[in-house]
Amino acid sequence: MRTPFTAGNWKMNKTPVEAAALAQALLPGLTDVNGAELALCPPFVCLPAVAKVLEGTKIGLGAQNMHWKDAGAFTGEVSPLMLKGWCQYVILGHSERRQYFGETDAGVNQKVKAALTHGLTPIICVGEKLEENQAGQTGVVVTQQVRGAYADIPAAEAQRTIIAYEPVWAIGTGLAATPEGANAVIRQYIRAVLAEMYSPSVAEMVRVLYGGSVTAANAADLMAQPEIDGGLVGGASLKVDEFIAIARATAK
Ligand code: PEP
Repeated sequence: MRTPFTAGNWKMNKTPVEAAALAQALLPGLTDVNGAELALCPPFVCLPAVAKVLEGTKIGLGAQNMHWKDAGAFTGEVSPLMLKGWCQYVILGHSERRQYFGETDAGVNQKVKAALTHGLTPIICVGEKLEENQAGQTGVVVTQQVRGAYADIPAAEAQRTIIAYEPVWAIGTGLAATPEGANAVIRQYIRAVLAEMYSPSVAEMVRVLYGGSVTAANAADLMAQPEIDGGLVGGASLKVDEFIAIARATAK
């Protein structure tokens, strides 16, 4: 039985002071939720401030990206060692990273390995673009991203990871995938690929989230799908009532 999990991706929003205030506002509603694990993923510079608010609670903290090296001449980057003290999770391969910052499957794979080495749980994002979806390429694209992210990662490590299926056309557009459509992609192109790469039991253990315009209004229907174990929530995670309602719907 997989424990449901939902994370809020705050993207490039909030100063440290604003982030602490948002976490504080979310806290009573989120700590009330039983039966789901929850995490907030603010920008790097907000991690200490949000960590302070979350201290002693069951709400987790995640980063939105990370370099794969421990240290070195990589100006502007943040290493797993720097995140380790603050975070339990790290989002890797988000489509905005792939689209605007040239992230590749090979780079995501290096990051996944580094996260696992340092005891961080990677939330690995995969998903097809609109034109790929329209060309009937969803399966090919998602399969390739999953295979790429997990290359040379042993089963014992793979089962500790989380995947977020985030169709790029659904992110920030208000056009969520249908619950049945997302469920089918996860079953056919994520769990089936994990089963092939590892085993059916590993495929059953990995939590797979849906992301892309999740709201309080559509969360319950999405979470009711058997293959969807929670959400990676962008815009709605910045709104207190919305995110609390989504967190409640996650604990289905
Ligand atoms: C995301 O940032 O991963 C995301 C899914 O964004 P939104 O919920 O705003 O579509």
